[in-house]
Amino acid sequence: MDVHQTVERLRADGIDVVRVTYPDLVGIDRGRDVLVERLPAVMEHGLAFCRAVYHTSPQGDVVEVAGGLDAGLPDICVRPDLATLAALPWEPGVAQCLGEAYEPDASTPCEEAPREVLRRSVAALTDLGLTAVAGPELEYFVCEPDPAAPSGWRRYGDAPGNVYTAGRRGDPEGHLLTTLRALRDFGLGVTMGNHEFCGGQFEINLDHSEALDAADRTFRFKGAVKELERRAGRMATFMAKPFNDEGGSGFHVHLSCLDETGGNIFEGPEKAAGLSEIAHQAIAGVLAHAPALAALFNPTINSYKRFGPDTLAPWLIDWGLDNRSAMIRVPPERGAGTRFEVRLGDASANPYLGMAGLLAAVSLGVREKLTPPAPLEGYGYDASRSAVLPADLPTALDALEADQALTAVLGDRFVSSFLAYKRDEVARFQRHVTDWEFREYGYHL
Ligand code: GLU
Ligand code: MG
Ligand code: MG
Repeated sequence: MDVHQTVERLRADGIDVVRVTYPDLVGIDRGRDVLVERLPAVMEHGLAFCRAVYHTSPQGDVVEVAGGLDAGLPDICVRPDLATLAALPWEPGVAQCLGEAYEPDASTPCEEAPREVLRRSVAALTDLGLTAVAGPELEYFVCEPDPAAPSGWRRYGDAPGNVYTAGRRGDPEGHLLTTLRALRDFGLGVTMGNHEFCGGQFEINLDHSEALDAADRTFRFKGAVKELERRAGRMATFMAKPFNDEGGSGFHVHLSCLDETGGNIFEGPEKAAGLSEIAHQAIAGVLAHAPALAALFNPTINSYKRFGPDTLAPWLIDWGLDNRSAMIRVPPERGAGTRFEVRLGDASANPYLGMAGLLAAVSLGVREKLTPPAPLEGYGYDASRSAVLPADLPTALDALEADQALTAVLGDRFVSSFLAYKRDEVARFQRHVTDWEFREYGYHL
């Protein structure tokens, strides 16, 4: 279908605006609303966005990244990917589609664009004859306004947390059903949802699919949940650990790989744990590159407050068979459903970058035929048995910088932009006086 036919179809469906959205470095959805009659021109010339999208923090601070302010914040050119058009069920007359970021010449892909970074990792697996299939799971907190809270928000609902509490008891306004139905109608391939461990915390699972599609759907999922909650007068947060007295929110990824015939290459009925040699190598790759992966899967200062013993979030770099205290859990299902669940990520991760790191690590494990240690048995938070994950963001950023094999797959320009952006974030935080400091030191010292 050419763009003119697309415009006709959109008009017939009552759509007069296309929201072109794409992910910035930290995974925030940035977009422009385009009147449908302008779509052919936008397809021809692209849509200009200020490069600031890769250089601006969620608070609006412009961050010093090479090719940004030093170059006068030039344009990037975004081309709508019409294959991703989908009507927004909650905004009549508007369809969303994803954009591809290019350099101002409109033909060179922007190297640090998250979709492009993920494509490089997908290609590293394709070179080995493998196709990654990913099933994302996201946890998040719903909040409601609270003028008395320092942040202005408190956890939604009045019930203490209780995992799998279905219905209004833990969800007084029916957030979960409304969200599930809206996301289904949006075509995101959500499968189910549940109340999580903490009050006001929910999890929604997405169907598995090839990595880029799974990342696209995760990215759209996060934006859609935030939008739906805002419309309901609430706020959804994918922050890793928003509350001191509650657990964190994970972004777990179930991963398998297909060979060139489409069969699940992780299946190994005759092998240890029913996992093929390639599955073992893939697990070993993720373990070997975990400190660097943390920078991508746990990309905020706050992320490292989610890790810890007895949290069901990981703390150590380990793997286990159906063991939720391990960083990598192999669910009991075998056959075509043979897979492992990487529990490292938190919900604040840019899904493209987390998955790009994961696929790159898998490709390195397979390429170098790495062997994992024996799987963890029993309690997984014994630091005498495995190495501990990075304790903070600066440590993880250093690990990413030092991991030359991984950064070679991800691309140097992306890695240096990401490091510059994140180190600026760390520096801004280090200069900021927190409430805790005043409480700890203000009165007695
Ligand atoms: N909330 C935990 C995490 O941060 C996961 C809990 C669960 O297994 O559902 O990863
Ligand atoms: Mg969960
Ligand atoms: Mg899970």
